[in-house]
Amino acid sequence: MTTRLDPLSFLDADLDALRQQGLYRHLRVLEGEQKPSSTFDQRQVVNLSSNNYLGLTTHPKLREAALDATRRLGVGSGSVRTIAGTMEIHMELERRLAAFKKVEAVVVFQSGFTANAGTVSAVLTKDDVVVSDELNHASIIDGSRLSRATIKVFPHKDAAAARKVLESLPASQRKLLITDGVFSMDGDLGALPELCALAEEFGCIMMVDDAHASGVFGKNGRGTIDHFGMHGRVDIQVGTLSKAIGALGGYVAGSKMLIEYLYHRARPFLFSTSHPPATAAACIAAIDVLEQEPQIIDRLWENTRFFKAGLQSLGLNTGLSESPITPVIVGDGALAMKLSDRLFEEGVFAQGIAFPTVARDKARVRTIVTATHTRDQLQFALAAFGRVGRELGILKH
Ligand SMILES: *Cc1c(COP(=O)(O)O)cnc(C)c1O
Repeated sequence: MTTRLDPLSFLDADLDALRQQGLYRHLRVLEGEQKPSSTFDQRQVVNLSSNNYLGLTTHPKLREAALDATRRLGVGSGSVRTIAGTMEIHMELERRLAAFKKVEAVVVFQSGFTANAGTVSAVLTKDDVVVSDELNHASIIDGSRLSRATIKVFPHKDAAAARKVLESLPASQRKLLITDGVFSMDGDLGALPELCALAEEFGCIMMVDDAHASGVFGKNGRGTIDHFGMHGRVDIQVGTLSKAIGALGGYVAGSKMLIEYLYHRARPFLFSTSHPPATAAACIAAIDVLEQEPQIIDRLWENTRFFKAGLQSLGLNTGLSESPITPVIVGDGALAMKLSDRLFEEGVFAQGIAFPTVARDKARVRTIVTATHTRDQLQFALAAFGRVGRELGILKH
């Protein structure tokens, strides 16, 4: 045996660079359930890092629905949707989502990521143009790249800049105008009314990724299209079943024609196995909860207002957030990671986020409250932010 040099050893240089910059992260491991107070890495912490906005990951109705579906239908679908893996429960979920979102049809994907990437890459070709907010989600960027369309990025929420881009393009060229409904790092809302008007004026396909808005914004959690009164003006809506809905998956909502097209052309739909029955059943139960218990969404917003006001009165920079996602922006990447680490030692889990996920000078700790946090838990977290913020010189007094 000759010793062989690891052909992947060059990756270590990259990891070393991350270590040097204080940006190296290990995976925190959750023991037990995803809850507002959870045990990560053997430490009990107030959990401000999940996307479990409504606490549905552990809701009894979802849990029972998943268990029941597993007993009746087994643990897997056994195939991709287009061969033998379309179960009645998948169709039921899609019918329920379509009615909920007030659209003709819905197709469910394995995740929000594959919904975006699969849809953008299916709808566009290399002759087309994507006009995209600079802070749109990675899955939109990847879908755009896969489509080989020309990608034109406009500054965050800047509809005037988007207009300039559209004016520069030939009228005959096919264009997709695309924005997140809620931006995942800043918690602000996409410029939907302005962008929908532009899409109509310039004949663009209008697409909104409502991953962080599903279950959070609009009546019963119908999303930002409902929040802004844009029904009928967005051609392609993407939602996720992985965040507020508490399970896993993504979906595209739109016309029957769009959905039938995606059945034939969206590669994650065609080439990757469909959800286990338990996941589909849990998602159907989640829609029941949104329709029957909208007060949990009210609780989410009460907690959001309370916590955001608390951070601001400490003197922390919460940016432009309009949602339960509230960043605490500190600037330097290493400082953000230090703040996150110290908070964790003090019993608060809020993820540090730095370049390349956010701009180099906009590093932050991101907080997400849920409907199920108690006031005591939120007070405890605010006190820790105050203490650690002063210790690290982020707060002056
Ligand atoms: C989380 C997220 C996704 C991906 O959703 P998953 O279901 O987790 O794959 C897509 N878009 C945005 C804006 C997101 O925040």
